[in-house]
Amino acid sequence: MSEIGRNIESLRGEIPAGVRIVAVSKFHPVERLMEAYDAGQRIFGENRAQELVTKVGQMPRDTEWHFIGKLQKNKVRSIVPHVSLIHSIDSESLLRLVAAEALTAGRVVDVLLQVHVAQEETKSGFDARELLELAHSGRIENVPGVRICGLMAMASFVDDERQISAEFARVRGIYEQLRAGCFAGHDEFCELSMGMSGDWRLAVEQGSTMVRIGTSIFGRREY
Ligand SMILES: *Cc1c(COP(=O)(O)O)cnc(C)c1O
Repeated sequence: MSEIGRNIESLRGEIPAGVRIVAVSKFHPVERLMEAYDAGQRIFGENRAQELVTKVGQMPRDTEWHFIGKLQKNKVRSIVPHVSLIHSIDSESLLRLVAAEALTAGRVVDVLLQVHVAQEETKSGFDARELLELAHSGRIENVPGVRICGLMAMASFVDDERQISAEFARVRGIYEQLRAGCFAGHDEFCELSMGMSGDWRLAVEQGSTMVRIGTSIFGRREY
């Protein structure tokens, strides 16, 4: 088995069965994605629209594509036909644009709302308060064209595990609040996308259902 295959096997051995692994393949060539595919990996995460669309054409049809990066409005149309989940909805206007493009394409797109809890201002996402206000406004419960399936977040890039855990716990708290509140009765609102190569264990402890792993599968990225 390839090294990438072995990395996936060993992650599968460690990550609880109910938690899905998104193989973050950005910047890696399709040959490396195929090694993961051959090891049974089907969900791949990309953060640039053009790269995702190019790879879609080169990978087997049953590959599932997740978009995990900052989504430019002028790129929405190009990815909508190909993605099974967009993790990174960070504004109401982006949500509405994805919904409109999905309707035009004759489909419904699953999305996550990205929450900003990290200390770095460069990371995107709704502020917690902004998200709760939006949710309580009643404007996003039923938007034709999209299904809101949960939340996504990134923790701060720090060594302090207590800080990282506290940030994930905060996201979990918001998720529970929404699940009991405006998304009550929406069974599809059940995903928490949290955790990357360096912090997935802490994320899983805090209830992550989906981890986004790049480096621990594919090795370091060449930019
Ligand atoms: C690149 C990226 C990852 C994967 O990071 P690794 O540390 O390589 O596992 C996860 N999530 C997002 C949003 C990313 O951009």
